[in-house]
Amino acid sequence: MEIVESCPECRRLSGQYETATIEWFRVQGQLQIAEYSRAEGLSDRIVSELTVIAKRRQMLREKIESHMQEMHPRTVTASNS
Ligand SMILES: [Zn+2]
Repeated sequence: MEIVESCPECRRLSGQYETATIEWFRVQGQLQIAEYSRAEGLSDRIVSELTVIAKRRQMLREKIESHMQEMHPRTVTASNS
């Protein structure tokens, strides 16, 4: 993901995105364990948790994209010119 390192808002948003990504992988790992152990209802709970995290990641991604377009339009278009 392209961000501006000198911008605090970029760093804040990308930090949150990174945290959500790490969380997603952690819960994904739990899901594999739950499926293996066949614990009653556990995988369902983990799947819904994964869905929540995936939505949060998507939301943060959109926030970063709109922030980039709004605050750093030159950075976004730089690669196209
Ligand atoms: Zn920024």
